[in-house]
Amino acid sequence: MSDQRVYNFAAGPSVLPLSVLERAGSEITNYRGSGMSVMEMSHRSKVFIDIFQQTQDKLRRLMNIPENYRILFLQTGASGQFSAIPLNLIGTTGRASYAVTGNFSHLAYQEAQKYGRITLACDTGDRNHCYIPRQSGLALDPEASYFYYCANNTIYGTEWDYVPDTGGVPLVCDMSSDILSMPVDVSKFGIIYAGAQKNMAPAGLTVVIIREDLPGHELPDTPLMMNYKTMVDKDSMYNTPPCWCIYMLGLTLDWVEEHGGPEGMEKLKWQRANLLYETLERSPLFQLHADKDSRSGMNVTFRTGSEELDAKFVQEAAGAGFVNLKGHRKTGGMRASIYNAMPVEGVEKLCDFIRAFEKNNSEGR
Ligand SMILES: *Cc1c(COP(=O)(O)O)cnc(C)c1O
Repeated sequence: MSDQRVYNFAAGPSVLPLSVLERAGSEITNYRGSGMSVMEMSHRSKVFIDIFQQTQDKLRRLMNIPENYRILFLQTGASGQFSAIPLNLIGTTGRASYAVTGNFSHLAYQEAQKYGRITLACDTGDRNHCYIPRQSGLALDPEASYFYYCANNTIYGTEWDYVPDTGGVPLVCDMSSDILSMPVDVSKFGIIYAGAQKNMAPAGLTVVIIREDLPGHELPDTPLMMNYKTMVDKDSMYNTPPCWCIYMLGLTLDWVEEHGGPEGMEKLKWQRANLLYETLERSPLFQLHADKDSRSGMNVTFRTGSEELDAKFVQEAAGAGFVNLKGHRKTGGMRASIYNAMPVEGVEKLCDFIRAFEKNNSEGR
């Protein structure tokens, strides 16, 4: 097994397309005749500026990002945006509205409370974040400077299947774990942001897509490096950007384009997810965490109801080449993260394994 690639169901950092890794490998010591690795290049060199620009252009093209939006390549981690967003946006009215549907939106909500008056549009903690509220269940604050939500809840395995209507309040969305897995109408958003390590590139890059009119209203104490205006004015190069990750994002975007763009990704997403959900639904041994109408196409959360059997599942799966299936401690059980780069074949084989495990462990139950 050691010389073979496994099927990696990690939640993040997570699987990247094999052809992307191979391409990066083939260029690792000498990038296209430059005589050096992208890791060794000045971020001000022409060869790197070309990589940077092309990556921005590709993302703009693939996501159909309108002209009045800027694309930033930052190093803050998705979590850094929990602070950057209120620091930059809350000054307008001193208020903001948060939809708490999981761990990361809860952390963002807590952080924002340092900077203004935050109201809850919803909190699905009453049922351990197993569902997404409908539009009618959102308590909106018309005076909010922005409305914040997280499109896909990586830990709990739920995903919004609609873009909330906030009646003109700018929408801010954490798309870390489902960006590029479906077409998105960017013009509905004020900010879309995502840590790269789930669906795009290695850890170390955070992509921020921001409407032009939003930077420039930051609170006075906003740190220089958290100020969107700094990064917009300097095209993400106030300081050294995460060069290698940006290069890797470029390769991943080529791969996404070759596979039909976000539309192609969306087809594959539900092909993978439906296979897994149908297999688990049919099995008397497993229970799914998320409500049926709120299920994520990226993170599938399930359990047997017995911690002992869950542990056995995770261990035997790893032995069979399906790794990182242990669920987050907040949900327990198992979680299969099936991002863009997970081949459908990997999920088909996992389903075979699930059926075999069920057969071998159902006696007397
Ligand atoms: C992983 C994740 C984060 C945290 O990302 P970091 O880059 O580690 O800060 C935030 N939000 C979502 C939805 C995530 O999946």
